[in-house]
Amino acid sequence: MKKRMFAYRLYIIGLLGCILFFSLLNGVLYFGLQCKRERPKSIEDFCNMNISENIAASFCKGMKGWKRNIAKTMIGEEYFSMYETIWKGIECFPVAKDEKGIETFAFDNSWLAERTYGGKRQHEGCDIMSSINERGYFQIVSVSDGTVEKMGWLDKGGYRVGIRSDAGAYFYYAHLYGYAKNLQIGDKVKAGQIIGTMGDSGYGSEGTVGKFPVHLHFGVYLDIDGEEQSVNPYWILKYLESNSSAR
Ligand SMILES: [Zn+2]
Repeated sequence: MKKRMFAYRLYIIGLLGCILFFSLLNGVLYFGLQCKRERPKSIEDFCNMNISENIAASFCKGMKGWKRNIAKTMIGEEYFSMYETIWKGIECFPVAKDEKGIETFAFDNSWLAERTYGGKRQHEGCDIMSSINERGYFQIVSVSDGTVEKMGWLDKGGYRVGIRSDAGAYFYYAHLYGYAKNLQIGDKVKAGQIIGTMGDSGYGSEGTVGKFPVHLHFGVYLDIDGEEQSVNPYWILKYLESNSSAR
């Protein structure tokens, strides 16, 4: 009799545990998916979207997203100040609108999607695709005030510009066709200042083009405890899409 009671209790506990686990999982995934349809309107939204996505990613990707992309020990205020570093000073969408009003661009949330060039890896950025596959058509502008920290060729990124915002976030613009005239490492730039043109450079030795369609790869990084951490640029782009002070 006792044995049967024990088994019965075990069964109930197991059942409740399962229900609780799946409700939690469902909640997290639902919240993550909800966020995908929204755009942040404030630093609080921005912070919540990043955190919920990181939690959802940790479920979906077997903790990989979690480990690589957020500082594990941070909670509450620390998260807030981390994301505030990015939020402060973002003013302009990184691609200037077509002055002729003909061509357009579009982007999806492809952060952490699988990429294979140079070995299996995760996509540390967001691709802004052009409706016209023409190098140099779209102008790329700085999203914030800042300082040009890196320029030149990278096998993966092609011709790239890296700008450190005044608040301390690192914005990475890759696959460029060309740089703005006279732009140099160490230059101070203003939000909305042209830094180059959209292209398809990269995936090979210097000068390689045409390995993929013309687009801007936009990445955002923070230095946390001396380690470079990728943050999803998608929410920033969603915000800037409707709040950009650029033309
Ligand atoms: Zn990319």
